[in-house]
Amino acid sequence: MSAFVAFASVILDIAVDKRLDYGITADQHPIIHRGTRVEVLVRGHLRKGYVVDIKQQPNYPSVKAITHILSEGPLLSADLLELALWISRYYCSPLRAIFRMLLPPGVRKGMAPKEQLFVRRGKTREQLREICIALRNKKSAQATILEAMLPVKKGILLSKLLEETKGSHSSVNALAKEGLLVLEKVRLDRSPLINEEYFMTKPRPLHAGQAEALRRIEQTLNHQTFETHLLHGVTGSGKTEIYLQAIEKALQADKSTIMLVPEISLTTQTIERFRGRFKEKIAILHHRLSQGERNDEWHQICEGKARIVIGARSAIFSPVIHLGLIIVDEEHEPSYKQNDLHPCYQARDVAVMRGKLTQSAVVLGSATPSLESYYNAQQGKYTLSVLHERANAASLPKVTVVDMRKEFEKAKRFTHFSQALLNGIERRHKEGEQTILFLNRRGYHTVLLCQDCQHSVKCIRCDLPMTFHLGEHCLTCHLCHFQLTPPPTSCPKCHGNRPLKFRGAGTEQIERALHAIFPSIRTLRIDADTTKHKGSHQKLLRQFGTGKADVLIGTQMIAKGLHFPDVTLVGVLNSDSGLNIPDFRASENVFQLITQVAGRSGRGVVEGEVIIQTTLPDNATIQYAAQQNYVGFYNEEIAIRKLFGYPPFLHIAKLLFSGEEAEKTQETAQQFRDILIGYLPSRFEFHPVVPCGYTKIKDQYRYQFLIRGSTMYPLSNALQRVAEKYPLPRQIKLFVDVNPSSTFF
Ligand code: ADP
Ligand code: ZN
Repeated sequence: MSAFVAFASVILDIAVDKRLDYGITADQHPIIHRGTRVEVLVRGHLRKGYVVDIKQQPNYPSVKAITHILSEGPLLSADLLELALWISRYYCSPLRAIFRMLLPPGVRKGMAPKEQLFVRRGKTREQLREICIALRNKKSAQATILEAMLPVKKGILLSKLLEETKGSHSSVNALAKEGLLVLEKVRLDRSPLINEEYFMTKPRPLHAGQAEALRRIEQTLNHQTFETHLLHGVTGSGKTEIYLQAIEKALQADKSTIMLVPEISLTTQTIERFRGRFKEKIAILHHRLSQGERNDEWHQICEGKARIVIGARSAIFSPVIHLGLIIVDEEHEPSYKQNDLHPCYQARDVAVMRGKLTQSAVVLGSATPSLESYYNAQQGKYTLSVLHERANAASLPKVTVVDMRKEFEKAKRFTHFSQALLNGIERRHKEGEQTILFLNRRGYHTVLLCQDCQHSVKCIRCDLPMTFHLGEHCLTCHLCHFQLTPPPTSCPKCHGNRPLKFRGAGTEQIERALHAIFPSIRTLRIDADTTKHKGSHQKLLRQFGTGKADVLIGTQMIAKGLHFPDVTLVGVLNSDSGLNIPDFRASENVFQLITQVAGRSGRGVVEGEVIIQTTLPDNATIQYAAQQNYVGFYNEEIAIRKLFGYPPFLHIAKLLFSGEEAEKTQETAQQFRDILIGYLPSRFEFHPVVPCGYTKIKDQYRYQFLIRGSTMYPLSNALQRVAEKYPLPRQIKLFVDVNPSSTFF
């Protein structure tokens, strides 16, 4: 006879991917739920994990009991557990990887919120004064402490009191024992915004378009139903103002909000705007938080003390209670997709799913919506609201496309800057206005070329040309950070006699070239090289914002969300560089990037201008971007996607195999593909095995194949069955990416 009243399926933190069954005793039954953290025996070892299901029958004839229950109540709420199960199935990712992501390390380890001892007076000030005098000669250490406490109205941290009086803990204890002082534990808030002050702003009266969009969102909130709103508004059209007022509506309805922003725009500028509107505690989550900070924010959110959560993609997993509103700002942003580790989730899609599970209003906002989202709006799945005009500035900037081939002809040589751009920069400088120059390449030279064999110097570990950095005088691999200092003088491949030649320009070179032309113009550069140190990104932005420079040069790090009213000229230097990538998202990425960068211009009172330099002036993407014609671009691009069967019409999964031996890796990929075909219905289309765009990274050769289908749900099951029957050779790793950002790299 079994002593168990029910059975729990447990997912372990490590080692085993499968669900394991354990028995629940009558005593345990009331306190074990789905999401409870437990400790169980696995082959003689105690292992921690989560209960994901409770059932009446185990899958195995004999099961052990659950050894320990580690959490009071479920550590994962019902909606988060449901979400995790969905992610696991949809993105073909082991559940334990998802749980690891859902709970900060401190919470998993049971790290308590930081507590400190706090000291208050136990008697009135007058009473203590008398006792203090009486103690003076007998117990002077205690008297000193009491004396220090006389002016303290509310209380003081024990550590601070001891520091000020050079007293001892035991003296304080003795005083507390007498009831003269009170010692209590208080929770310290390590949250990153604790000591900052903000200018409070009032909601602005909305324009008609804004008001209509807000009305629709409010309706969803009031009905407590799930609905996704797509807010398509040009940059500066007042989307953020709508988010702010929608959050206010949610608070009025006693609902919490999660707002996602791209990591890169989690700047003081953005945070200030939100802190400046709400007196509420706002939890801010980003990857620079310490473990303690993350832990504290987690507890604050869990306990409903922070009802507004702002963060980068993983903030979508915050344990918010009474969730009512989810906002995804710049929803088209590629950084919402996790590419490099499991689960490879798209936070925008997870947001919509969480909205569905919690009956929340989901708001996706962008000037250049992803094709997927706009398609969903066209299909009537999402509610579309459009803002056509900028909220405060006169008009959208004037855009000019410059044909660089003609510029090279005119100048009889290669040049970084067109005449129009140079004139523009000079004029802005004279007028006291600012310019932003955008180039999607960092470093000084992008390649070092052998004139004999025409090969560029590549990283020894990766299949990628190395970039020359003048500041450090070295060649660097942008994939693995391997450096060659100083750069080689002869070709490592053919050892030829002719000197190597540098080619291709990055931001570092552009800055120098600009100085050579305009020595008096002050520049700032923002790219991965100038923002390595903590806080340097913010500092550079602040410097530019306060007019410490005339020209800001940067990579895509400066393309998003920044609001500098004095910027009236934006130059896009190599607008077509992304168009040569053989990837179905290439045009979309280029269109978005140009439009976003252009949107940085003319956000103040003076009309803005944008100059797009290109060698492909007739390219449709460049043209649509120049006209700021999103719908035109969408119509053209969606037709191509439909014709060739790309998302949103079909789903794609990329199966990437990596290993130290090229041939073996390729063979394994081939065999795996041949087996997997048999496990999926014939409507799934299998592409051939090919080398990835980066064929080698860190000495690992990479091969991939794509699968296309109308849904990817059957894939996770098929993969599991294949993995069980035909385990991969040890040296070879398989990485599955569903709806990958790139089908090329
Ligand atoms: P977006 O998020 O679409 O880029 P913002 O919300 O940042 O746009 O608005 C751009 C500028 O217009 C901001 O300075 C903002 O304060 C201002 N703004 C927004 N809505 C209004 C409004 N209804 N009336 C006046 N100014 C507004
Ligand atoms: Zn490398």
